[in-house]
Amino acid sequence: MFKKVLVANRGEIAIRVMRACRELGISTVGVYSEADKNALFAKYADEAYLIGPAPSSQSYLNMAAILAVSKNTGSDAIHPGYGFLSENPSFAKCCEEEGPIFIGPPSHVIAEMGNKIRARHLMMKAGVPVVPGTKDAVDDVDEAKVFAENIGYPVIIKASAGGGGIGMKVAHCREELVTTFGSTRQMAGSAFGDSSVFIEKYLEEPRHIEIQILADSYGNTIYLSDRECSIQRRHQKLIEEAPSPIMTPELRVQMGEAAVKVAKAIGYVNAGTVEFLYSRGDFYFLEVNTRLQVEHGITEMVTGIDIVKEQLRIAWGEKIDFLQEDICINGHAIECRINAEDPLNDFAPSPGKIRGYRSAGGPGVRVDSGVHTGYTISPYYDSMISKLCVWERTRDLAIARMERALYEYVVVGVKTNIPFHKAVMRNPDFRSGDITTAFIEDNKILESVEEIVKSEAEKGDTLASAIEAKDKKVAAITAAVYAYVSMAQKMQR
Ligand code: ADP
Repeated sequence: MFKKVLVANRGEIAIRVMRACRELGISTVGVYSEADKNALFAKYADEAYLIGPAPSSQSYLNMAAILAVSKNTGSDAIHPGYGFLSENPSFAKCCEEEGPIFIGPPSHVIAEMGNKIRARHLMMKAGVPVVPGTKDAVDDVDEAKVFAENIGYPVIIKASAGGGGIGMKVAHCREELVTTFGSTRQMAGSAFGDSSVFIEKYLEEPRHIEIQILADSYGNTIYLSDRECSIQRRHQKLIEEAPSPIMTPELRVQMGEAAVKVAKAIGYVNAGTVEFLYSRGDFYFLEVNTRLQVEHGITEMVTGIDIVKEQLRIAWGEKIDFLQEDICINGHAIECRINAEDPLNDFAPSPGKIRGYRSAGGPGVRVDSGVHTGYTISPYYDSMISKLCVWERTRDLAIARMERALYEYVVVGVKTNIPFHKAVMRNPDFRSGDITTAFIEDNKILESVEEIVKSEAEKGDTLASAIEAKDKKVAAITAAVYAYVSMAQKMQR
């Protein structure tokens, strides 16, 4: 097994990967930006090195600096986590050519799947259903109009190189298509350096269901659990669960086998996710995420498989040592992404210092985080505080457990989306499993969030307000003590 792994990431995911390494007896190398010099993950690593200033382009995306640390420390492999360099084919290729080992799929797979048009071609060739759409890039608005009018509105214009919910616009009518077509192309060009776009039928109120896969270098490809990720805001996931509430044994096999077909068609190796949209009984290929996903933890909870350890083993050249029939789904897991953002102010990021922090705990609760009391959430990076995951035997029990965990979770000093998660857990449609990607708008969730925030403020009986009150009292006492001491010192003089 590897002796030393460099983790080219920050925050909770850097710690998550280092935890797996620690359990496998692998020593870890952290890399950090100036903004992160006091961050927990940099302390957690066995050794850690500064790689540049706060902006990601100068640190976490700085390939030369990261590769230099890898060389100087004698690291055998690099784990890229998610985001940053994880889906950058040039970085993976550099590693393939000059070492160390890149913990992820081959660079050509990353390149092919990073191009949505190319990915769709490969899927069509492999006989996997894709969302109805244009076969190739669409260069002019007249061509776009012809397609949209044939297939019927609404349609979605997508940047071929897009990702993270960026570079997509929905058009409900001809006028909207005409105005958004050019702007999406322009945005794609400036954000991704590739202005090609294609058009898909915009499926109304679909579910986002994805399949976690593992593939080794010996041709063994296995699907783990499915994940329902329909609770999204602006096409970005906020709550995920495993398994999907609509999953049946038959559908699981159908989607799982389709995901394996996708993986085999592209020569996939390592852990990956095949995303599908599900609508009215049919499912369509959306894309492959060629990395560890944020939401991998809920799959670990229901399958008992440590996906990061499997990634390390596969990259080391081991065979997957279990079979498809060994995978059984046990119970239900839910993840809420706890972000420092204000749900009542259009989810605006709320960076700043965490003055008080107590995460949830107790039975069946897993918190992956990189923060602590006194930690400052930097405006340079995403605003994630942690991933709060729970497990219970059934979905209803898991929801109750998540409500309890959210009640326990205290973050003082920055605004969080915890009230949003509470509102979703209490929502009757969510509870019945009747969810689609339009859930937030359809359910007027923000009104419930407002009510929760108001009633908690009025009652003042939450753990958070108790701690906040104590925090204020402690601050007042500390200030009084300082004033007294300085007065006494003055009198002595
Ligand atoms: P990205 O690569 O930016 O994450 P995806 O293609 O994976 O983009 O899509 C992200 C989300 O956007 C999906 O989960 C879904 O909510 C929505 N979406 C994408 N394509 C469609 C479509 N054709 N119809 C309806 N919703 C879509």
